[in-house]
Amino acid sequence: MRIFSGIQPTGRKHLGNYVGAIRQYVDGQDRGEGIYCIVDLHAITVPQDPAQLREQLHDTTAILIAAGLDPKRCILFRQSDVHEHTELSWLLSAVTAWGDLNRMHQFKEKSEQQRELVSAGLFIYPLLMAADVLAYRATEVPVGDDQRQHIELMRDIAARFNARYGELLVVPEGRYPEVGARIMNLQDPETRMSTTYGSEQGTVYILDEAESVRKKIRSAVTDSGTEVRRGPDKAGITNLIEILSAIRGTQPEAAEREFEGSGYGDFKGAVAEAVVEYLAPVRERYAELRPDEAGLEATLAAGAEKAREIASDTLAQVREAMGVGPPGRKG
Ligand code: ATP
Ligand code: MG
Repeated sequence: MRIFSGIQPTGRKHLGNYVGAIRQYVDGQDRGEGIYCIVDLHAITVPQDPAQLREQLHDTTAILIAAGLDPKRCILFRQSDVHEHTELSWLLSAVTAWGDLNRMHQFKEKSEQQRELVSAGLFIYPLLMAADVLAYRATEVPVGDDQRQHIELMRDIAARFNARYGELLVVPEGRYPEVGARIMNLQDPETRMSTTYGSEQGTVYILDEAESVRKKIRSAVTDSGTEVRRGPDKAGITNLIEILSAIRGTQPEAAEREFEGSGYGDFKGAVAEAVVEYLAPVRERYAELRPDEAGLEATLAAGAEKAREIASDTLAQVREAMGVGPPGRKG
């Protein structure tokens, strides 16, 4: 089993990223061969300050290691270090339907937020994401619920490539956590908690101080009711139940039973303490790891070397199959 996933080095990563994605990456190390990529080329599809982007790439690297990724047991690298991703995205553009790209919800959402320029990069982002995964012939892609459409697209691209050029790429499966696949913004529980948009006050960052986490959770928007249970008209409470269950590794029904008859205040207090306790060790390890930038760079460079070995083999076969470049090795 080969597992691949990417995460953006934008902003500070949040609780949704942690339970939806990062935690699955850590599990993946034990279940198979984990390959994890910090996707700086995806980040530049919206405006970034160049110096800050480099800083944030180190932040994200340190967060991932602090959360439990062990560069000795997985491959952890920076997307732009492995040129095969961009080359493969171009080659795969030949088997990607424009109409399919045009249906991507995330492009529509993100393009609406752009004030200056809606870049072509933002539009073709899912194609680069397909190349990221397909270059490694990964079987499984751990992601949050918001990535379902992009996963379907990459499956279609792989299948179309295989139909046209022979069975060379692996059609991967998305892997979504059973609980916590879509954590919502605490101030606006109809909107996904996101790195780049939504209320800051409603976004719990992995590196937030305990007091700040408590404050954000205590001021989470709820409803005028009193019952701690999930429901279509109870988006805020539903989200808090989901958060608590995700970090405890239990089913939401268990939390509903436990807090039957409790008020929202007590319930929020319990969620806040659980989140604080959950994030504290990551924040502590992060503080130890982050200052060693040379060490982080060395880790990324070693990861890129291992990644390139796998990706360049796929690329050689794809080029050969498509008739691009000089005749060479057979796949
Ligand atoms: P942006 O909103 O700018 O895309 P992001 O918060 O989605 O940023 P990414 O680096 O794009 O951050 O996503 C990393 C991983 O986290 C992806 O697998 C994504 O599906 C997952 N993820 C993002 N937000 C959530 C969320 N609210 N709940 C669960 N998983 C999430
Ligand atoms: Mg995202």
